[in-house]
Amino acid sequence: MTVDYASLPVANSWYSVDSYPGDITRLREIHIDPYWAGSVWLVQGTERDLVVDSGTGIVPLAPLIAEMTPRPVLAVALCSNFDHSCGFYSFDERACHPLEAEALTHPKLRDLSDYLGVENRLLAVPRAGFRLEDYELPGAAPTQLLEDGDIIDLGDRKFEVLHIPGRTPGSLALWEAATGYLFGGETLFIDPDKRDFPPQDTADYEASLKRLGELPVTTVFGGHYSSFSADSLAQLISNEIGRYE
Ligand SMILES: [Zn+2]
Repeated sequence: MTVDYASLPVANSWYSVDSYPGDITRLREIHIDPYWAGSVWLVQGTERDLVVDSGTGIVPLAPLIAEMTPRPVLAVALCSNFDHSCGFYSFDERACHPLEAEALTHPKLRDLSDYLGVENRLLAVPRAGFRLEDYELPGAAPTQLLEDGDIIDLGDRKFEVLHIPGRTPGSLALWEAATGYLFGGETLFIDPDKRDFPPQDTADYEASLKRLGELPVTTVFGGHYSSFSADSLAQLISNEIGRYE
């Protein structure tokens, strides 16, 4: 069923902000069921900060981030799926894999409204009169392209870019070897309801998962929900390999 917007409350605030160890903060769109809106991770460095994914963007994210840090920010889209990347436009510095650039530059409102405009996904509206059908979805070309092996330098910490195709052709993960932290976006999250979510390319997806499974991970920061342990990552990979063949 489509959403009856008139029945939804108008939200006072849109994002929750939660601190994690390692100078990491999670922002979440609290009026969207967490399965349908990706987590946003803010990572502090000494020279600049990193924003990993950017949510649906129906409430601009960059102004809130600007209140949270005095440093310049690089926003990375780990994939171009709507629940992770439609907030990309609000940032000045934007990076993604070349294979996701077109989708980020020209996102389709119809896809966002079809995805989110279903009963019980959107639990409040961000402003009175808001309807996804009328929303002007801004696109934004990346200002920087990322390839496998590139390093994102925040000053005191460095993240290696991993190209992990499967969920989407240009899906990325970010790996901090010094801490064992892994940001996996849409590729790595634990759905408490274990719903089926077939990747765009199963063979690529499984190869990417195997690659990620060989890293000496301490903590995964998931594309949805929270962070999880290396043991949970191993379980997730084992559950997913062979699931969609
Ligand atoms: Zn997602």
